[in-house]
Amino acid sequence: MSEADRAGAVLTIDLGAIADNYRQLRDRVAPAAECAAVVKADAYGLGAKHVVPVLHEAGCRTFFVALLDEGIAVRQVLYACAPPAAGGNEPTIYVLSGLTENTAHVFAEHRLRPVLNSIGDIDAWKAFARDAVSQTAAAVHVDTGMSRLGLPENELASLRDAPERLAGFRLAHVISHLACADDPDHPLNALQRDAFEAARASLPTAPGSLANSSGIFLGPSFHADMVRPGCALYGVAPTSGQPNPMKQVIRLQGKILQIREIDTHQTVGYGATHRAEKRTKIATVAVGYADGYLRYLSNRGSAHIGDYRVPLVGRVSMDLTTFDVTDVPGNLVHPGALIDLIDQSNTVDALAEDADTIGYEILTGLGARYHRVYRRR
Ligand SMILES: *Cc1c(COP(=O)(O)O)cnc(C)c1O
Repeated sequence: MSEADRAGAVLTIDLGAIADNYRQLRDRVAPAAECAAVVKADAYGLGAKHVVPVLHEAGCRTFFVALLDEGIAVRQVLYACAPPAAGGNEPTIYVLSGLTENTAHVFAEHRLRPVLNSIGDIDAWKAFARDAVSQTAAAVHVDTGMSRLGLPENELASLRDAPERLAGFRLAHVISHLACADDPDHPLNALQRDAFEAARASLPTAPGSLANSSGIFLGPSFHADMVRPGCALYGVAPTSGQPNPMKQVIRLQGKILQIREIDTHQTVGYGATHRAEKRTKIATVAVGYADGYLRYLSNRGSAHIGDYRVPLVGRVSMDLTTFDVTDVPGNLVHPGALIDLIDQSNTVDALAEDADTIGYEILTGLGARYHRVYRRR
């Protein structure tokens, strides 16, 4: 018996495809800009422990996480896979959520760089840098239209009037974040780019970084000196409504537990929301909303068995989902057979659309109960 035998589903993660996606994005922005990688939320649910070494091997030297604890974990992974040569440069890790109270020394201890999101952050980091012996580089984040994190216009203005507040530590990057980059026609894109360049011009000279995955595809005027793709590395389409240039990274196969035949008027699942209109074969699969297979997919989603598309019927329950497999040859549907819930023909984006959400939410919700297989090529 293997671990896969015990699990209700097998999640295969193609690390080679992630490396290929990284190289594609890097080549798109080279040589003018560096390509960093965003590995927050455990590399978008795919496992930072496995993903980070592959990105490092593909040449990535700057990583972004959301939280300090994620930064500490990524530092450990990088330290293990690429121990720094004496005096050599370590890969850079930025923590997007920035300085929180009493954490400056933790950044220094793990050689992490905060993204400073306010004048208060900047003053705190400067005060810390005054007493610190070790590296104290940081990025400053200016808000150009997200109204979420980063210096708003008035704080930028006070910084412009008192540039000495930035003296005392190394301003390694100035960053901002695009709100609508997946929609190339949105007027906010150019407005944010221009506001970003204006902000940079008012600050001490430092490399700039504006583009997420989608921003890369808006063209070179958005690349600045470094781009920060996340979702595209993991196969999510960067531009809505356009063909996806990225390689698919994951395959999710659910296990059929039971097959049954029901007749006209019999119903399936909680709430009896699906009623058979003829003799129907139902396959019950060991995946449910507890695995991140969203309940909203009830009576909307679909899966594949070989080349056969099978509709999801009835409600998704916590541990089980039911599919109409009437049209699939009998030799393909039996207890223990695997059914493709996410694959090349039913991509993360397609599943997300059926679930009225985005690929990011599907990836970061991938369940802990799946048996995970990491494929390297
Ligand atoms: C998450 C995030 C990214 C990566 O965005 P994708 O759309 O996944 O490429 C880049 N920059 C910031 C500030 C982020 O929060």
